[in-house]
Amino acid sequence: MDWLGLHFFTELPADGQVLLNCSHNPVLVILAYLVACAGSFATLDMAERVRHVDLPAARKRWCWVGALCLAGGIWAMHFIGMLALQLPIETHYDLPTTLLSLLFAAVASWLAMNTLSQPKLPLWRYLLASVWIGLGICTMHYVGMAALRSQATAYYQPDLFGLSIAIAISASLVALLLSRYLSDGSGMLHQLLKYSASLLLGGGIVAMHFTGMWALKLVMPAAGTPSMPVDDNPLQLGLTIAVIALLIIGSSISAALADKKLQHKEQDLLRVNTLLSQLDQARVALQQVAHYDALTNLINRRGFNQLFAEKLIEKTVQGGMLAVMFLDIDHFKRINDSLGHDAGDELLKVLAHHIKGSTRSHEDVVARFGGDEFCILISLREREEARLMAHRIMNKMKEPIELAGRRMVMTTSIGISVFPDDGTTSEELLKHADLALYQSKESGRNSLHFFNANLKNTACLELQLEEELRNALRSEAGLTLYYQPIYDLNQHKVSKLEALVRWQHPLHGLLAPDRFISIAEANGLIAELDNWVLRKACQDLAALSRHGFAELSIAVNCSALNLAREALPGEIADALQSAGVAPQRLELEVTENALMGNIETTVNLLRQIRSLGVSLSLDDFGTGYSSLAYLKRLPLNTLKIDRSFIQDMHQSTQDKEIVQAIIVMAHTLHLNVVTEGVENVQQYEFLAKHGCDFIQGYLLGQAVPVQELSAAIAEIEQRLRTAAGLSPSTAAGDTGGSGSQDPVPDTPGRHAGASTVRPIH
Ligand code: C2E
Ligand code: CA
Ligand code: CA
Repeated sequence: MDWLGLHFFTELPADGQVLLNCSHNPVLVILAYLVACAGSFATLDMAERVRHVDLPAARKRWCWVGALCLAGGIWAMHFIGMLALQLPIETHYDLPTTLLSLLFAAVASWLAMNTLSQPKLPLWRYLLASVWIGLGICTMHYVGMAALRSQATAYYQPDLFGLSIAIAISASLVALLLSRYLSDGSGMLHQLLKYSASLLLGGGIVAMHFTGMWALKLVMPAAGTPSMPVDDNPLQLGLTIAVIALLIIGSSISAALADKKLQHKEQDLLRVNTLLSQLDQARVALQQVAHYDALTNLINRRGFNQLFAEKLIEKTVQGGMLAVMFLDIDHFKRINDSLGHDAGDELLKVLAHHIKGSTRSHEDVVARFGGDEFCILISLREREEARLMAHRIMNKMKEPIELAGRRMVMTTSIGISVFPDDGTTSEELLKHADLALYQSKESGRNSLHFFNANLKNTACLELQLEEELRNALRSEAGLTLYYQPIYDLNQHKVSKLEALVRWQHPLHGLLAPDRFISIAEANGLIAELDNWVLRKACQDLAALSRHGFAELSIAVNCSALNLAREALPGEIADALQSAGVAPQRLELEVTENALMGNIETTVNLLRQIRSLGVSLSLDDFGTGYSSLAYLKRLPLNTLKIDRSFIQDMHQSTQDKEIVQAIIVMAHTLHLNVVTEGVENVQQYEFLAKHGCDFIQGYLLGQAVPVQELSAAIAEIEQRLRTAAGLSPSTAAGDTGGSGSQDPVPDTPGRHAGASTVRPIH
């Protein structure tokens, strides 16, 4: 192996002289070790950098910097280690060979860094790489040794030579595995581990070097006279090289540190950006949920309000008209109640599609406000455009729709307000469109109305009435009950009274229920109102009993809305009990509308009321559903034929036949029949002839306050008995209260003459 200057002991010349007094400068040895440690630390640091940068170019760059640090570290260590060698003969180094050794250091280092820049490798790849790297380092070392020029020849002890190679390979393997292990951590412990690993690796590299040096034996030729070493201060040179190496390594580490910080900043920035974009996405999604109606995909009230505000600003600045159109599907509740909510939802989707299809796709805004309420915003040139569009929508709505195996036709009511004529703010315009819609519903639905100022006055009045009604109920002042007699055609006497509420208004005078019942129903006051009527009627009935009307019963109206309240049977029982009135003397009048809600619940509630002993009558029969199937299911006692059937009976044979048929049907169902609105004798005679059980109407008399009742009843009975050809005092069962326990001393009891009746207080 002469080309490397490698001679092993086996080749030792017999006459050679081994130089024994070779030593090492300890300062330089320590310096070599420090440089090796610094190089190792830099390598571990660069390996970490390589693993953490994403860009391939940056990874390559750090790979090269790492290789440079490692090569510089090893080579500088080697050089300083060589400088530390103190020989008793003159030595110098061959520059090309020295540079060649540097090349080997560079190759080994590049190989190391290249292995570390790979993603996780199997162990055998690390083993293979460490063999190559170890051999590279050894080659660097022994080529560096070969650069040593002196009179002596270098011989190596083979076992130590082998050991140096083994140390180089092992140190490389440990370095590779350690840097792989340390490439992913962070924090103080990680840093400490890295420092310890650097000391260990530095030790490995130095150990390899000095094992190599240990293997070295310099042999002087026997004949040669050793030339004395030149005093060229190796310490200074070693220090210079160490400083240069440490500077290179230090600046590389600083660069890596700066890059790491920069990368962290970039990552933070990226994270912030990602978070921001996620936030943005969430905001968009929220906006979608917040501004759109999930069922129909139309915008909702909130979204509408936003667009409306924008359009209003636009129109105020640029001029132009806007129409706000409120739509309400007529009797939509019936669909929900009869076919279920799923069918209702399906229908809403179809209707939303119809509405959208009737508008101008981009310019107009269609929104669903909830339930069956839709709102449209249209830009106009003239008012009539809104009417045309409303008609278009109404016609489209009338197209038959297939739903749940049925074919149905829906209609819609529309209310329109126009900007700027009917208001300039969104609140005003919406309120006015709503008022116009209310008007459309009031006028029988399936119609459209534009807002006008009169509607507003009415609405203001309604609002005021609502407030006043609330106060009247709270203070129990102003509300009063009137009673309309109901005449029993079989017993020829007034046997029932219908309690009809009145409101003595301080400004408007005596108000009929038509004026305020709907207000009470619309504002949740109806339960309170009906309960007040119920209690008052029971108290009046108790007072009537005390004044000779012990067999009279009272019929009290009950709003359909009230029949949805579970508390109702309890309230009735309570009213009866507090007044001390027998339940058989109370009748509850319900309308067919009450059955439009949940029929099961209503029937259940009516049964509970019946079980109290209270009678039930179906009011206004013939104006609502009038379904025979329902009639059979309800626990009714009485059926009240609506006034509209007998109103024009004298000129309508059909009405006569209907009334006859209803009487027969009611009797078949074992129900009593009351006919309302009897105003003349012809109607009375017809009803009496066809078996009607009771009549009620102006023929008998209008509703009167409780104080005027006894006189009214006496007058009615006298008049009707006379008309029937009966003696004024012959009633089939005297309703009279002669046995009354009335505490008032001059109570004569009730007899059929007005003269025997005294006023009730
Ligand atoms: P209703 O239950 O159908 O009451 C009969 C209405 O017809 C009463 O009007 C009565 O005065 C009127 N009437 C009676 N006979 C005749 C007649 O021969 N010809 C004409 N043209 N009308 C007649 P009123 O008192 O104005 O009551 C109107 C409606 O208000 C009642 O209709 C009832 O539905 C409701 N109502 C009255 N009082 C109450 C109440 O305390 N609670 C509830 N929820 N509703 C009530
Ligand atoms: Ca009634
Ligand atoms: Ca009625």
